[in-house]
Amino acid sequence: MTSSPTSTPLSSGTPLSLFVLGRQSDPRSERGVECPGDLPPASDPALVERARRAKAALGDRLFVLGHHYQRDEVIQFADVTGDSFKLAREAAARPNAEFIVFCGVHFMAESADILTAPEQKVILPDLAAGCSMADMARLAQVEDAWDVFADAGVAHLTVPVTYMNSSADIKAFCGKHGGVVCTSSNAKSVLQWALRRGEKVLFLPDQHLGRNTAVLQMGMSLDDCVVYDPHQYNGGLTVDELQAATMILWKGHCSVHGRFTEQAVDDVRARIPGVNVLVHPECQHEVVLKADFIGSTEFIIKTIRQAEPGSKWAIGTELNLVKRLAHDHPDLEVVFLEQHVCYCATMNRIDLPHLVWALENLAQGHVVNQITVDPETERYAKAALQQMLDLPGETARD
Ligand code: SF4
Repeated sequence: MTSSPTSTPLSSGTPLSLFVLGRQSDPRSERGVECPGDLPPASDPALVERARRAKAALGDRLFVLGHHYQRDEVIQFADVTGDSFKLAREAAARPNAEFIVFCGVHFMAESADILTAPEQKVILPDLAAGCSMADMARLAQVEDAWDVFADAGVAHLTVPVTYMNSSADIKAFCGKHGGVVCTSSNAKSVLQWALRRGEKVLFLPDQHLGRNTAVLQMGMSLDDCVVYDPHQYNGGLTVDELQAATMILWKGHCSVHGRFTEQAVDDVRARIPGVNVLVHPECQHEVVLKADFIGSTEFIIKTIRQAEPGSKWAIGTELNLVKRLAHDHPDLEVVFLEQHVCYCATMNRIDLPHLVWALENLAQGHVVNQITVDPETERYAKAALQQMLDLPGETARD
């Protein structure tokens, strides 16, 4: 374990229904593939006033970060919104805030803890808000893979690169082995840097972002890429395959973006003539090939803001963001690309009851759900993050 949540029991007067990791589940927010494309139901609106009061009581001691995929009922309390990397930098830019409440998922709170001062406390309102993609690359699995690479004689030729959406110990693994972190905005320049330092890249944990960047932005072919499956002997690869590959893609994916299909693109084009299809690079390669525009969450937001009035857009990213964009841009026709893909169930675990519970506890002097990364992990993870920031032009990027 690299991070340790600490919690204080609910104050006896708190009438909120909470689902703490491993104790209960909320069937309304865990519908998985059964989701018909609706957002989860809104929480009791009476909680809005309680959140306001608790936030006002904490004043400048508190800074609330809200990821773009959060629910509207939560995002309204964010002091700043953004993607995971922007939010981590925003946290680092607030040295006077005693509490950073991160409305996002676990790996994001870890990154905020890594980039903030030791005395600042990063809080994740629901400890069950994890990320299935980050969970697909465990440290022990990656260390085993590195041994396989060593046996195949390629470890010393390989630079590990991890997407921001990974646990702190995977970032630390990259830092320890001369590697780096990337975001969906800067994956190309990070890969170019890595391939100047080594002959191969181990790309963690999202195979789709790795493949889409290598093939569509860097001119590699699909044959330059192999997929390392941690659940198969030697990753399911032969020594020859490992030696021949330039990109060794970890077999991980986002359980939201990975579900958009080519059929959905065909269907929306038939349904809405003239529609522009805009997708995130975590989508499958075949889907991205059929899209008109590809880019990070920040790119998607910017593209819609700058779109011609009256234009039509089908967007392949998380449902909360797509619905918010549709609402905020009534002069455009904005639809969700797929009819059978869900919102991100773990992102949506941060709801108003959890936020109110965290804020009220902080206001009462109880630090709950603090996310801390151990110093050794933090040191190496920070090195991998810093390596990214040191690349030319990186500080100015989204
Ligand atoms: S949208 Fe995908 S990558 Fe983002 S938190 Fe959810 S599962 Fe993880």
